[in-house]
Amino acid sequence: MSACRIIVWLVALVVAPHQSVYAQGFPFGPKQPERPDTVLVIHAGTLLQEAGKPPLREQTVVVRNERIERITEGFADPGTLDTGDAVVEVIDLRAQFVMPGLFDSHVHLSRATGSYSPGFAGVNSYAPAGAATVNAVIAARLNLAAGFTAVRDLGSDPQSVFAVRDAIDKGQIVGPTVIGSGASVSVTGGHGDESGSSDPDERAAAGVCDGADDCRTLVRHLEKTGSDLIKFKATGGFSSNTGLLQHMTADEMTAIVQTAHRRGIKATVHAYDADAILDAVEAGVDSVEHGYLVSDEGLRLMKKNGTVLVPTLTVAEPPSIAKRFLGKREPKSVTLRNESRAFERAYEKGVKIAFGTDCGIYPHGRNADELLRMVELGMTPEDALRSATVVAAELFGVDGLTGTVTPGSRADIIAVTGSPLDDISVMLDVPWVIKNGQVAKSNGAMQAPLDYSLVQEY
Ligand SMILES: [Zn+2]
Repeated sequence: MSACRIIVWLVALVVAPHQSVYAQGFPFGPKQPERPDTVLVIHAGTLLQEAGKPPLREQTVVVRNERIERITEGFADPGTLDTGDAVVEVIDLRAQFVMPGLFDSHVHLSRATGSYSPGFAGVNSYAPAGAATVNAVIAARLNLAAGFTAVRDLGSDPQSVFAVRDAIDKGQIVGPTVIGSGASVSVTGGHGDESGSSDPDERAAAGVCDGADDCRTLVRHLEKTGSDLIKFKATGGFSSNTGLLQHMTADEMTAIVQTAHRRGIKATVHAYDADAILDAVEAGVDSVEHGYLVSDEGLRLMKKNGTVLVPTLTVAEPPSIAKRFLGKREPKSVTLRNESRAFERAYEKGVKIAFGTDCGIYPHGRNADELLRMVELGMTPEDALRSATVVAAELFGVDGLTGTVTPGSRADIIAVTGSPLDDISVMLDVPWVIKNGQVAKSNGAMQAPLDYSLVQEY
């Protein structure tokens, strides 16, 4: 580009009226048409604004575009609301229990659960990126249809999960808000070392690091290439037959957590063994996934530091197809979990517990089974719902995602038939889902909006 043309460009930028050239769609895309605001007037028979607080009867929730604008008593007539020239839609949920959308803190969108989830393009995490992307699109839709408006993906094919995350954010496809780790970090021979290679580049791409320096480099690389948080595996795991003992050193964990925090992102640890959990919590990790063998000392430190437990209870149970072969025998995951009672002990001690399922290993769309299991093991329905809303929302740390139905929050709202406070099993069927102010599921049917304004003009 000649000096003369550069000057013309600079002058054009300076004199451009009112807004930047990018906002006008020039030079990188078509100009987006101006649209009127969209207002949803939701008449809620019962409204649970925040799990743990008493629900309110007969309320109106007003949503403007993607945010909750206000809440008024009674069923407000839209004509009495000052909606300007917005497009107004009344959603009649007078017979429903309306509440915040749910959060799942542990899923794997690009993983399918094979034989008992028909429709998936692949059966495991080794599916090629194309098939893994199709998996992630379908899984995202299944999670949203189950009432989960935000999920944390803790280990998926990075190309597929980041593409799906970004397409959902742009409104191109339907799904929950996704924050994703991309590849999860493991040491050589550990749970998740699937590289099968001695090539350093291939090993880094697979999330393998050894030693503090190597792990720091890997975390910086992951953050640079799109990871919203770091997931690392401090112990072996069931699905890889690597045992449950500690694999990662305290030194490596400290390097991982500190580097993540310096980049402004969180770190979560996959861990079973009690010593590994202690080392991770001392390193300042934000949450512990599974944590089945956590010691009382570990729980005390978690409580002191505000470290969150993501208990993943249901995934310990074998799928029904495996039960046929197991007969009365319990798999090790079930006996270990039931003997150690980490979830029950953490709940007694007041450790923060965020809802998480491991869907992808467990069937996508059946996330709410975990709520029933939590209540079965002694948690109150209020606390189980809190763990899947406000507690998880704090762990996600995404602006506007508060896990409550309050003015200013993003409009992620669901409705069920009957009160989950009386019977938690009503959460197994969520007929209404509003995500980011758009009706994604209406009266039991998923809506599939296709935004034609996104079609490029030539
Ligand atoms: Zn997992």
